[in-house]
Amino acid sequence: MSDPCWIQKEIPYIQFPGLSQEPNLAHGVFTRHGGVSAPPFDTLNTSYAVGDHQENVTENIRKITDVIQAQELMYMNQVHGDEIHVLRKGDRINGEAIDADAMITDIPGLALMIKQADCQGAIIYDPQKAVVANVHCGWRGNVQNILGGVVSRLNKEFGCRPSDLHAAIGPSLGPCCAEFVGYAEIFPRDFDRFMVRENHFDMWAVSCWQLTEAGIKPEHIETAGICTKCKTDWFFSYRAEGTTGRFGTVAMITP
Ligand SMILES: [Zn+2]
Repeated sequence: MSDPCWIQKEIPYIQFPGLSQEPNLAHGVFTRHGGVSAPPFDTLNTSYAVGDHQENVTENIRKITDVIQAQELMYMNQVHGDEIHVLRKGDRINGEAIDADAMITDIPGLALMIKQADCQGAIIYDPQKAVVANVHCGWRGNVQNILGGVVSRLNKEFGCRPSDLHAAIGPSLGPCCAEFVGYAEIFPRDFDRFMVRENHFDMWAVSCWQLTEAGIKPEHIETAGICTKCKTDWFFSYRAEGTTGRFGTVAMITP
């Protein structure tokens, strides 16, 4: 676990120390602060689907786009599936959100944003090929191994070698709060060893395991180590708050 760096600006965000060293990558995990939304979406809510005013969400996303200095920002209708959306140089970007849970691009200046409140936003980056992926991974994503799916898609579509990839797992439900009472019905048996106490699982470790199984070196994986349910002063948490916002995790190949 590596302590994330907090960037304290008008709009605060955190960066992963390893990824922040990469000259061709811009990234940030935004918090709930620095936006314009009113409670219970206060204030930097990025989701149009939770009941917030549309114009506030649009303004929040505009602010994030500004901070990251993106020419364009893409997000998805996240559906807890394993669909991966690939955007290559030359592809037309029409700005319409599609149903998927991961995006991959090599287009400089195109920011990819994941929206979350307890689920993991995971950035996977290849400094050799200058390709980046941003993944929405909740427990259903772990069960479907979307992280492994993204690694193999990076390889198939862009020739990325897993050993070159760097990955970072953002603030999300920690082992303290990731309680799954019905785990026997929903998790495969090889998740059992990640149970830390009755019904509680270390989903950060599950994701690290899935990434290393896919060929990423353990020393290339960073985990923010921040539990959203424990830190609602900084992050939205669906489990802690119910009706709430979604914070944004953004990654972009720099122009
Ligand atoms: Zn917690």
